[in-house]
Amino acid sequence: MKGHIPRKRFGQNFLVAQAVIDRIVAAIAPRAGDRLVEIGPGLGALTAPLAERLGHLDVVEIDRDLIARLRQRFLPERLTIHEGDALKFDFAGLAAGAGSQPGLRVVGNLPYNISTPLLFHLAQYAPLLRDMHFMLQREVVMRMVAPPGNGDYGRLSVMLQYRFEMERLFDVPAEAFDPAPKVDSAIVRMIPRPAAALAAADEALFARVVAAAFGQRRKMLRNTLRGLIDAAPLERLGISPGARAEELAVADFVRIANCLAA
Ligand code: SAM
Repeated sequence: MKGHIPRKRFGQNFLVAQAVIDRIVAAIAPRAGDRLVEIGPGLGALTAPLAERLGHLDVVEIDRDLIARLRQRFLPERLTIHEGDALKFDFAGLAAGAGSQPGLRVVGNLPYNISTPLLFHLAQYAPLLRDMHFMLQREVVMRMVAPPGNGDYGRLSVMLQYRFEMERLFDVPAEAFDPAPKVDSAIVRMIPRPAAALAAADEALFARVVAAAFGQRRKMLRNTLRGLIDAAPLERLGISPGARAEELAVADFVRIANCLAA
């Protein structure tokens, strides 16, 4: 790490295992001309092999010390550094200047302390994205990809599966990092669903229904959705008011929201 003291508040666990770095880069499969942005480049473990293959990439980094190091190491024509908080970053600005391939690609070994809000922030840019590859806490990845009926299936699964096809590619042990995190990690691939698949007429309402249904996940829908929808219209949609949120498919939540919007 050559002098940098990892900052816990920025979720700094740096990748050091070369075999893992190679495997992540192979999964991303960067090609010259891709428009790619890395969130949290840190000391450049992924940035360097990505820059080599792409010719140029953008990065968003919050830590000024790390930014100073990146500026020393990479030429500006190779690396455009955006200094600031990825949670507030306007990714649409990067998609606008698209490269030869359509769609922005987003990658990162994400700071785990902000991973959920960051995923929600990025989800709003889904129509502009080609794909995203992230290292996350394994437990979060399990929740993202969980199917209905699975104990990990919840609000995060529904809200992200609504917009993305997601696949857990492989797990990464804690020893691959310095300092080693206390949790296991995994790599997830997220590919936006076609626009036609985004079927909620009112997305804020859809989000409200999902949040209410999972607010008390052991309770039946007739209770958790009370005040939003009655038992009779639920039955007309073919959804049992006695079911629990975790039994519903993403499309069921969309149908409930669209019934309310109509
Ligand atoms: N990519 C490097 C690697 O794989 O070794 C570093 C990964 S480290 C887990 C997370 C990185 O995200 C750090 O460089 C940290 O400073 C940066 N970071 C943390 N919070 C951030 C934020 N809100 N916006 C942008 N970068 C952030």
